Amino acid sequence: MPQTYPNVFDMLEELQPIDPVYCVYPHVYRETAQEFIDGFPGRVLYAIKANNHPQVLRALFDGGIRHVDCASLQEIREVHAVDDTATCYFMNPVRLRDAARRAQQDFGVRHFVIDHAAGLELLLREVDASRSVIFVRLAVHHDSAMVDLSSKYGATADDTLALLQAVADSGAEPALAFNVGSHVMSPAAYVHAIETAIAVLERLPFKLRLIDIGGGYAKSYPGFEAPPIRDYLKAIEDAARFSLADNGELLAEPGRALAAPGLSAVVEVLLRKDNRLYINDGLYGAFWELRYDAHDRYACRAIRDGRVLGGATTEFELLGPTCDSDDKMRGRIALPRDIAVGDYIEFGAIGAYSLSGRSDFNGFYSDIVVDITDIAERPPG
Ligand SMILES: *Cc1c(COP(=O)(O)O)cnc(C)c1O
Repeated sequence: MPQTYPNVFDMLEELQPIDPVYCVYPHVYRETAQEFIDGFPGRVLYAIKANNHPQVLRALFDGGIRHVDCASLQEIREVHAVDDTATCYFMNPVRLRDAARRAQQDFGVRHFVIDHAAGLELLLREVDASRSVIFVRLAVHHDSAMVDLSSKYGATADDTLALLQAVADSGAEPALAFNVGSHVMSPAAYVHAIETAIAVLERLPFKLRLIDIGGGYAKSYPGFEAPPIRDYLKAIEDAARFSLADNGELLAEPGRALAAPGLSAVVEVLLRKDNRLYINDGLYGAFWELRYDAHDRYACRAIRDGRVLGGATTEFELLGPTCDSDDKMRGRIALPRDIAVGDYIEFGAIGAYSLSGRSDFNGFYSDIVVDITDIAERPPG
């Protein structure tokens, strides 16, 4: 059972933590999941790579998530360890040898993805086609995606049509998937991708039942404004005029949109040199995503003696604890002017691509993950 506290102040009082503490706000995860499920006209798959922590999975399942987009057998195991009634989709065109076979035999996985004839051949060696749905991943491009997920995976329109036919010939059910990107800053990117997909499917001699429009829904951070999720969902609903087979369904694979809001990281100030604060977490820990060229900071609040520290603020540079000179945040953060060694800082909405990528480089690593249970409490941001 996770350690639980009503709020961050009680947690600090009790633990007096030396390492960073990651605070799951289960009620925020539940609410985020419910909103996405209510707004999306289809099946919502959580892309587990954004955050695979069991407490986060638990909260998302409690919020109604029943389907999980996995890329490895290990991720499938992690889902089953939390809830063996959740459905896993093995949505990586590249898998370890024998992983698809074991996913199907040991975990009943039925959904797989390919983007090349060679990948289809490998997959068909391992799975029972008659029990499988095989998505063909179509490459789509749009300038508003900060990360282009079609540079590595995805087939051309012509190849997609040939692959869908080959899947049908194998006895598996053919389906279509595409991924606009990650940190997609404009709902128009989904409209464009959906229109591309509709044009491809018009050339297909049979109808599909399942269309997976992928993940990528952006999230706002300080200094990084993204449209609200409902704008994406509205644009998708309006554009998705697919002509589907009976029982047709759309699928989405949000990672960041579900993972980000409900987690905070509580760090300690280790050293202050004028306006530079050295803290006990950094780019090799929960802040690893900040190395990429998108958002450069998280919303935060300073805490001292069980209270939020107020007063006039000034801009600080934040640096991690390792000996690597790159271990610092690019963005400047406004914090109270008299912040000092021993004060804590809570960073909010840090749930996406944080815990799932941290390393123990240089001997700094924390695995203290607690639940914050008072539903009036929310992470900063
Ligand atoms: C990473 C990924 C996602 C989730 O992306 P977000 O930007 O976190 O929503 C969904 N599907 C696939 C195939 C991915 O690789």
